[in-house]
Amino acid sequence: MSKHDKEKHQPIKLQRQNALDEILAYAEAQQTELALAQEHTNMLREVLNTLSHDLKTLLSVINTNVYLLDRKTSPDQKQRLLGQIRTQSQYLERLIKDILTISRLDVMPCFSLSPVKLDSVANTIVNQFQVIAEAHALRLELEVDKNLPAVMANEIELHRALSNLVENALYYTPSTGTVNIRMTSDVTSVLIDVRDTGIGIAEADLPYIFTPFYRASNAREADSHGTGLGLAIVKKTIELHGGSIEVRSHIGKGTVFRVRLPIAAIPTSVA
Ligand code: ADP
Repeated sequence: MSKHDKEKHQPIKLQRQNALDEILAYAEAQQTELALAQEHTNMLREVLNTLSHDLKTLLSVINTNVYLLDRKTSPDQKQRLLGQIRTQSQYLERLIKDILTISRLDVMPCFSLSPVKLDSVANTIVNQFQVIAEAHALRLELEVDKNLPAVMANEIELHRALSNLVENALYYTPSTGTVNIRMTSDVTSVLIDVRDTGIGIAEADLPYIFTPFYRASNAREADSHGTGLGLAIVKKTIELHGGSIEVRSHIGKGTVFRVRLPIAAIPTSVA
């Protein structure tokens, strides 16, 4: 007997109950979808609010400094104002770059992937940040397991995400501290730990640090020029690689970000 025939022979009451259950399940699914869309809209509204406020503040600081520059005559004062304008416009540039990156990842959530050897990415990052580390009397260490498997990745995007974690670690670690990058693997994944001995993140802040524009108060005190978009970009990038990121931290002791990326499948030879 076919499914249709079976349904035909069900008592009318049962058929009605089944139809009702289906309608209820459909309504529930629609409600969940609506709630998600609403949440997305609220988040977008919040992001736009913060963004407009940040841009407005930055531009008014620049405009005020330009206005004062026009009126000051002492070379020292002019130099100081020029320095402030330079700092604010560099921050503005960083903010716009981060906004463009995050919206590109939202609009085009796919990369071209190929097998990438992470040891060479890590070496490039360490070379790139060594000067900054030395300038702040920080130790930057790299440990990579021998025969670390390749991962399927877009090298440019992955390089940017890992650089961001290392840059944060250096920024939020006071002089004489250490930033350590460690790459290991298990059966399915490559694990990348970026560990620092820095200011740490309070437990209450931990659930929010991947949210766009969220900055913990101890970070705002330590460095006033972060955009608060870096970790949102890192998380999105890692997830688009099929990976995940988690964080452990103790205030005043340090932080570890662990990135997990799936190992690239080894092509099996065709017999
Ligand atoms: P930001 O531009 O402020 O660094 P991110 O999105 O990169 O923005 O990071 C969000 C927040 O997470 C930071 O403002 C800071 O509070 C916290 N954070 C990120 N990395 C670290 C770290 N290594 N040590 C301490 N706090 C960190």
